[in-house]
Amino acid sequence: MTVAPHFQHKNGVLHVEDLALPVLAQKYGTPLYVYSRQALRDAWESYRSAIGDRKVLVCYGMKANSNLAVLNEFKTLGAGFDIVSGGELARVLAIGGDPSRIVFSGVGKQAWEMKAALEAGVKCFNVESEAELLQLSAVAEAAGKTAAISLRVNPDVDAKTHPYISTGLKDNKFGIAIGHALTVYQRAQSLPGLEIVGVDCHIGSQITEVGPYLDALDKLIKLIKTLAEHGIHLKHLDLGGGIGIRYTDETPLSPSTLLDNVFQVLKANRLDHLEIVLEPGRSLVGNAGVLLTKVEYLKHGETKNFAIVDAAMNDLIRPTLYSAWHGVEPVTPRGGDAQAPHYDVVGPVCESGDWLARDRQLDIQQGDLLAVMSAGAYAFTMASQYNTRPRPAEIIVDGKADHVVRPREKVQDLFATETTLPND
Ligand SMILES: *Cc1c(COP(=O)(O)O)cnc(C)c1O
Repeated sequence: MTVAPHFQHKNGVLHVEDLALPVLAQKYGTPLYVYSRQALRDAWESYRSAIGDRKVLVCYGMKANSNLAVLNEFKTLGAGFDIVSGGELARVLAIGGDPSRIVFSGVGKQAWEMKAALEAGVKCFNVESEAELLQLSAVAEAAGKTAAISLRVNPDVDAKTHPYISTGLKDNKFGIAIGHALTVYQRAQSLPGLEIVGVDCHIGSQITEVGPYLDALDKLIKLIKTLAEHGIHLKHLDLGGGIGIRYTDETPLSPSTLLDNVFQVLKANRLDHLEIVLEPGRSLVGNAGVLLTKVEYLKHGETKNFAIVDAAMNDLIRPTLYSAWHGVEPVTPRGGDAQAPHYDVVGPVCESGDWLARDRQLDIQQGDLLAVMSAGAYAFTMASQYNTRPRPAEIIVDGKADHVVRPREKVQDLFATETTLPND
């Protein structure tokens, strides 16, 4: 059993839906990102069914996987989008996404990005500092537009996740300290070109328990009540993204656990008229993809064995950046795992940090295919061309059919726009 239901061994071969991975390796080469369309739909359904008839807008946190095919799939299913740059806005507009379902997050929005978002007509800017508020007011006024805003507050709660993906503690760069929020809301009220519509928080990523969300919600509710006493009435409450996925043996909370708890608290506080916005990224795509790679060489050292594969840290940086654990599944298992050596699975990049998995017992030989699991989120979108390695193709499988949704880059393309200096 793998962590992902649409990635299962059938007759001894790992399939994506009804397609055997060796077929894709043969057709497109490796490394290769392979996603399952049904897995995207199932993940969406887990939110849709959890929502029922409650007023919840799901804005896909698209930095997790921003391929146009993935965006279009979620658009069709009814998603809005959480964007963090002008580039992401352009992607949503390119697939005909509805700007009135876009929320714009990010700690360093630039004037041109604000202007583009105002012109598109986004639902809300999640403002992260007083300085940003001043700039947004000026940009909106100059453009003759009104910017709908939420303040992203930092509720100072521990999301109990890796420090690099924890964003709700008071000593990190995100949001406005909740104790200072009233003052900044009042500032917003006094500035031209702004309309206060909500409040926002995003406390971290790969969160597996509901507790941190409820801690944050408690603090936000107190703030909402204080704001109301000062005549500031909100339309929506954005709880951000962050729901975790199973990489190995985690049992993350489900959208229904989160929403049932949230609405219970809102009802008790007579605040269930508020629209709830969620910004899930990882939980919609993480287990909808694998990174398919080939074993180039096995190297048996004195203290360690290495499986050197053709994927590397530039294709999947999460292990070395966050010490993240990704499952590694032989595509065609040989069956001798219990006696097999332990390997560090590493890439060809010239860095000791170039590893994908450590200390895995694997019965493998040179030329075998491996699937690095849970590579649907923060894999391709964080990929680079380091070592002049073309980024792999992205494929979406739908039943027995495969679709190239981004072709493999060509080596020549990587330096096609570079020039040399004139001679003296
Ligand atoms: C990254 C991010 C998200 C998505 O987070 P996931 O953990 O992938 O669900 C949502 N909102 C904001 C503001 C983000 O920065």
